[in-house]
Amino acid sequence: DIQGQRLLPVLLKIAEEVGSGAGSKGQVADYIPALSQVDPTSFGFAVAGIDGEVIGVGDWQTPFSIQSVSKAFSLALTLAGSGESLWTRVGREPSGDPFNSLMQLEHEEGIPRNPFINAGALVVTDRLLTLTGDASATVLRLLRTESGNPHVDFDPVVAASEAAEGDRNAALAHFMAGYGNLENPVTHVLKHYFSQCSIAMSCRDLATAGLFLARHGLRGDGSRLLDRRATKQINSLMLTCGAYDAAGEFAFRVGLPGKSGVGGGILAVVPGLCTLCVWSPALDRCGNSVAGVDALDRFTTLTGLSVF
Ligand code: GLU
Repeated sequence: DIQGQRLLPVLLKIAEEVGSGAGSKGQVADYIPALSQVDPTSFGFAVAGIDGEVIGVGDWQTPFSIQSVSKAFSLALTLAGSGESLWTRVGREPSGDPFNSLMQLEHEEGIPRNPFINAGALVVTDRLLTLTGDASATVLRLLRTESGNPHVDFDPVVAASEAAEGDRNAALAHFMAGYGNLENPVTHVLKHYFSQCSIAMSCRDLATAGLFLARHGLRGDGSRLLDRRATKQINSLMLTCGAYDAAGEFAFRVGLPGKSGVGGGILAVVPGLCTLCVWSPALDRCGNSVAGVDALDRFTTLTGLSVF
């Protein structure tokens, strides 16, 4: 029980101190035109308890492009379907390089360092495509079911914009295919990856959809999506690799597993208790929401709710 009434004043204080300055520091992602249109002063923050109670402040009900936050969900589905065998194709170490870096792939012969950098996420999407025949639809279905919102959907404009500017991701995929680390045609893998990244959701829906990570693998209806071990592994990877090449800084400041996206969203997990989702589109140079990290830092400091 998160006792929303107790936490609401904390969220209101954070919205006043951090949310009111949102957009004054950082830059909205502009590497694809469709993302650069978002209002940089937006700020939303939601907390969902494992019993399903959700509270929020600011723009917490406004949909935004979840981008790389989707990687936590595709990883969950892939581990649920293929188990430990995934780890022969992707590593578990933080990269220290930018999310779309090609360099490290050459050193490790086509095996990405972790499932949250783009190369690793492409391998996860590839595996999910083999397992299900339709990777992005499977991710969308999970997000709809777990958020309880059947209107969650792809944003075709964002997906098309990403595909049109997709040379870096195509290079990563072709490079891995050259090492035999993709099972499906590069064009299929990219299409599903871009679609999954284009999904639009609010803080409310994303926090709710991520609750299985706080429930040791249990879905909202009580059935099991993941075993305890796989859920622990995903949370661990979110802590060590979930915030691009600033994952160390994120762990240092926030003290929680988290996954960020260049749409400005961050999903964080307090295992056994709740999930947090914050959104503010202006990013630091690593691609993490400036106000988002600040808000999570204050939340865990003020409440003591971190894994440490
Ligand atoms: N779809 C984006 C890309 O691959 C995801 C970026 C992100 O949120 O990290 O470039």
